[in-house]
This record gives sequence, structure tokens and C-alpha cells, in this order.
Amino acid sequence: MRSISRDPIFIAGGAGATIWDADGNEYIDWVQSWGSLIHGHAHPSVLGAIATAAGKGTTFGAPTEAEVVLAAEIAQRIPSVQMLRMTSSGTEAVMSAIRLARAVTGREEVLKFAGAYHGHVDGLLAQAGSGLATHAIPACPGVLQAAAGATVIVPWNDPEAVVQATERHQLAAIIAEPVPANMGLVPPRDDFLELLRERADRTGALLVFDEVITGFRVARGGAQERYGVMPDLTILGKIAGGGLPAAAYGGARSLMERIAPAGDVYQAGTLSGNPLAVAAALATFELLDTPAYGRLQVLTDVLADGLRDAALLAGVSVQVQAMPGLLTVFFSAEPVGDYAGAMRCDLQAYGAWCRALLARGIYTPPSQFEAWFPSLAHTDEQVSRTVQAAAAAFGELAS
Ligand SMILES: *Cc1c(COP(=O)(O)O)cnc(C)c1O
Repeated sequence: MRSISRDPIFIAGGAGATIWDADGNEYIDWVQSWGSLIHGHAHPSVLGAIATAAGKGTTFGAPTEAEVVLAAEIAQRIPSVQMLRMTSSGTEAVMSAIRLARAVTGREEVLKFAGAYHGHVDGLLAQAGSGLATHAIPACPGVLQAAAGATVIVPWNDPEAVVQATERHQLAAIIAEPVPANMGLVPPRDDFLELLRERADRTGALLVFDEVITGFRVARGGAQERYGVMPDLTILGKIAGGGLPAAAYGGARSLMERIAPAGDVYQAGTLSGNPLAVAAALATFELLDTPAYGRLQVLTDVLADGLRDAALLAGVSVQVQAMPGLLTVFFSAEPVGDYAGAMRCDLQAYGAWCRALLARGIYTPPSQFEAWFPSLAHTDEQVSRTVQAAAAAFGELAS
């Protein structure tokens, strides 16, 4: 909110795609806890599952049957995952996957892309997207030089740079959001994910897809299913916790068996696989059938088209980049293909447009470097109300 010169909004509650703030204002929520929710707020089935689980105790620090059922459910959906470990946050899952990649390869360096966000893992904060981009924090104080030094940063969608970096460095891992959404939504160009796979294979690095946002969203099996490119390790979070704190990392059994106690790479978490989060996740997955993805695609397309037309009509130059369940309105005259392109956007205009939307009861990410999260809770009426408000807000900018 600071980046768009507004006071923060304190949320009092929500239902479906609607939220209320502490001052009694109502909004259509396009943030959905940064994509943690796919069925909206306070979905009755999810709340019911949480209540039932809570009645039997909230944490044991020991395995439960439901945790194993959830693991099987995730493995069945995400093509490259045979075995997985649960954590409580995406950050933890990324940290643990990187540790595993280093153990498996005996190497230290990790390649990440400029503008990608992988949680607040020390070594991956350099040129990170999301909040670091919003507040213009290029690198973070408090990070060990050695941690930052083991990170190789390459521009997204730049094949030449990837080839060079993978030749020059002995990489433990190439980590990517397969569809980056933390510099705004910047899909991979044709064959770029295939190149990452090929370079990892050729150089002995592990390919790690951070699907914390894209998992269970851009397709049932995430970006890896949508693009047909399989990583060695996958990070999941957000939807994977059904709106409660849970995340996971997984891959081939041969890799995951290196994790303790089966193997020698240590990782643990007192609240990992927490019964309430597991119950919320299972209820969330049960509602995520095939027709749900068709609906999410149509809803996102209608919203994207409406926003494009509204901008055109007002004579405001924007790029609406979208994928099922994800969308960014870039204030740019050209398509945005990397972090540098996102940084070149008219941030002043974006901020003014956001404020004009908020004034009309539309809550969107208050940053150019984030995505909107269309959900299955948004109604057609809410989509058209949003497009109308956007048209008025574009008109306000143009005048
Ligand atoms: C949100 C996010 C994370 C971090 O997850 P937390 O649960 O906030 O720690 C990691 N990677 C991506 C791509 C994310 O969007």
C-alpha cells in the first residue's frame, strides 16, 4: 500500500470473493491471500473439514493418516512428484529443496532468475520479485556474503544467458517459477522451459520448479503439466494448504529418499503436515475437479478481455498478461518478458489506477510486481462489476 501511497487496509472478514475492512468498506478481492485460496474465503466445505479435524486435536508432531492421503492426492496430481515432504511454508520448502539439491550434486551454486521470488530464503533474495521489487530492495541486509555469493542470477526468457551461466558455473540447481508471477505475470517464451530442462541434464544440475503459485492453478498438475516439462524437484504451497499454513517439496523417490530419516539430509518441522492444514487442503482438492479448471480459464479470459477493451477505449496503454487463475495489468506499451521490462512500467500510473479501483470497491494487488488471482468463488457479476470499475479508473487516468 505504501508503494501506491495509501494507508494499509485492515481486513475484518471475507466470504467467497468478497472482503470487508475494519472501516466497514466492502471489496471484490482479487488477491485471495496471494493465491492461497482458489475457492474464496470461508468456503463451507473447507471450514467444515477444519472444524472436524480441530475437534480431534490440532497437532501431534507425529504422522496422521490424513497426511498420507494428502501426499497421495498431491503425487497423483503433480506429474513429476512420486514422494514428498510437507513443511509449513513455501520458504521452508524451497530452503529444504535447495539443501537436497546441494547434497545430491555435491555442488553449491544455484541459478535463479531476476524478478523471481522463492520466499525469504537467504541466498535467493537477490533481485527478487514480490515485496522486494515493490519496495525496491535489490539485496537484503543481514544475508551472509557467502549465501548471496552462491547465487547466480540470470534474466528470465534469455536463452543465451542461461547457456552461458550453465557453462560457466558448476550448478547444484536451476530454480525457476515456471510461470513467474512475482514480477507480475511473465509466462515463459516458447521452448524456454525445455531449454532449462536440457541445460540441467547436460550440466548435471537439478531442475527445481517453484510451483507455489502455479501448482493446482494454471492446470490440475501445475505448469509442468501445462507445458509438458518435468522438473527434478517441485515446490508446492499456497493452494496446497487450502488457506492454512502448509507447503511441500517432492520429486522422484530416489531423490526424496535422501531426506532424513530415510536418508542423511536433515529437515524437520514440528507443525509440518498439521492436521488442520491437511484437512483444509483435502477439502480444497475435493472441490477442484476438471470442470473447475474450465471455469477458471473462462473467468480469467473474460476478465482479461474486459480489462484490455476498457484500457483501449480510454486510450491507456497496458499489457494484460493472463493464464488461468492469474493475470497482471502492466502499464507498458510493449509486452513484458522479463524483470527489466516489468521495472520499466509506469509505476505512478499503476498506483493511481489501483487507488481508483480501491475507491470503487475493487481490491487488487497494490503493486505492479504481483498477479491478480481469479478464483472459483468470483461470480460473472463480480467480473463485470470489476471491468466497469476498471473502465472508470482508466478514464480517470486518461483525463
Ligand atoms: C509465496 C511464494 C513463496 C513463499 O511461500 P511462503 O509460504 O510465503 O513462505 C515461494 N515461492 C513462490 C513462487 C511464492 O509465490
